[in-house]
Amino acid sequence: MTHLPDHNWPQMEPGWVWLCGAGPGDPGLLTLHALNALRQADVVIYDALVQEAILDWAPQAEHIYAGKRGGKPSTKQRDISLRLVDLSRAGKRVLRLKGGDPFVFGRGGEEAQTLVQHGVPIRIIPGISAGIGGLAYAGIPVTHRDVNQSVTFVTGHDQSGNTPGSLDWQAISKGSQVIVIYMGMKHIAQISAKLLEAGRPASEPVAVVTTATTQDQKVLESTLGTLVADIEAAGLEPPAIICVGRSVLMRQVLDWQSMAAGAVPRDLDPLGRGRPAESA
Ligand code: SAH
Repeated sequence: MTHLPDHNWPQMEPGWVWLCGAGPGDPGLLTLHALNALRQADVVIYDALVQEAILDWAPQAEHIYAGKRGGKPSTKQRDISLRLVDLSRAGKRVLRLKGGDPFVFGRGGEEAQTLVQHGVPIRIIPGISAGIGGLAYAGIPVTHRDVNQSVTFVTGHDQSGNTPGSLDWQAISKGSQVIVIYMGMKHIAQISAKLLEAGRPASEPVAVVTTATTQDQKVLESTLGTLVADIEAAGLEPPAIICVGRSVLMRQVLDWQSMAAGAVPRDLDPLGRGRPAESA
């Protein structure tokens, strides 16, 4: 087992809850603070997207599953938050482990708020979010100087489970060259229709990365116009990150996983910028 490097690592005290990101999948994408917490926790309460291998790093702890199971509705958010309060009051060192980053579409803010409202002391440990790290594993830089000066992260679900009516798709389309969609698979037909309606071209590159950073990672390269049919033809299932924008083209030169397996880059200059500038 890997040892933590020498450092003044925080001690988990009884009664504390540490709300921690587990990264998108690959256990190597945990932070050292997360590992430090796994080593000390009495209880780990984890979500569906947290890999088993990560839990193996807390053999001393009780593991409690708080995600969706077999299509049944997720454990109610309120129940999870109150369970955390109870565990804290029972004097446990509680590690609340969430996929990606706890504060990115993860309802971590709500859980933390409930804990504070109940007087429970907390620590927040950020994680690598799927919308950044998952794309990096597909060879897609979420920003690239020749493509975008901004990026928008959106959720394809709102509280009612529908396409977020609250989102101004026109504004997002105009304002952001790159759009990264979480939880977008269910409503992808409506979402892509809205983007097309807002003036994004049918030829616009789109990538869908499923179970990113795990052994099962799949990447589909598509376009806005053919996306729905391509997802269906490829039989892709969530969890997926969908990236809309020309930075997707960079995968042609940066698909490092295929290159590690012996493939050659498809195009050394997919954006047609010529030789890279000598200076920044
Ligand atoms: N807090 C998480 C997001 C939770 S919402 C984070 O920061 O990454 C759940 C959504 O995240 C999924 O529906 C999917 O869109 C995305 N997601 C999380 N892990 C993923 C993975 N390994 N591969 C692809 N998408 C992932």
